[in-house]
Amino acid sequence: MNTPLSRLPSDPRSALLVIDMQYDFMPGGALAVAEGDGLVPLLNRLGARFRNVVITQDWHPAEHISFASSHAGRDPFDSITLPYGPQTLWPDHCIQGTRGAELHADLDLAHAQLILRKGCNAGIDSYSAFVEADRTTQTGLAGYLKERGIDSLFVAGLALDFCVAWSALDARAAGFNTWVIADACKAIDLGGSLDKAWRDFQAAGVVRIDSAELTV
Ligand SMILES: [Zn+2]
Repeated sequence: MNTPLSRLPSDPRSALLVIDMQYDFMPGGALAVAEGDGLVPLLNRLGARFRNVVITQDWHPAEHISFASSHAGRDPFDSITLPYGPQTLWPDHCIQGTRGAELHADLDLAHAQLILRKGCNAGIDSYSAFVEADRTTQTGLAGYLKERGIDSLFVAGLALDFCVAWSALDARAAGFNTWVIADACKAIDLGGSLDKAWRDFQAAGVVRIDSAELTV
């Protein structure tokens, strides 16, 4: 049974939040998500139905704290403890100004009103588009959306179990009606992270939806 929508994509109070559709997350990229590039046509079709579109861009300085290369003796996908808590270490990715950090050129969302760059702080990671990994530092996105009268977010992109998940959960925590468009995301699935994401969504009231259910 379909979940009834309290907001339609075309509603001015709705926004599509497109997470991290950048070359480093595409097949062949530094932190590739399988079939990530396959989402582009669907995201373009979805985006065309939304009046409001916001895009995020992972945007790290070189030697970012989330890079394994910044920690002697550590490898990508190791987990370490930082002053703000556990941190998975990643290959160097989405370094400011590099091609890997660019949005996929076929992403056709020219009407997007905001490209929010995150993870810019050298000492704090930020999977979330709303709150950095210290769980304190705000990106300002919640305020931006609320000041524009947007109360409902449809989240899609990469990766479902990391940046999409943290963004959707923080959106819900900030009071937005939040849907994750399941077929418009791809996951990394590291150590059970995908199952955890779906459990966390359910517990938080983030609603799973498929793109076919978004009719108007
Ligand atoms: Zn990153």
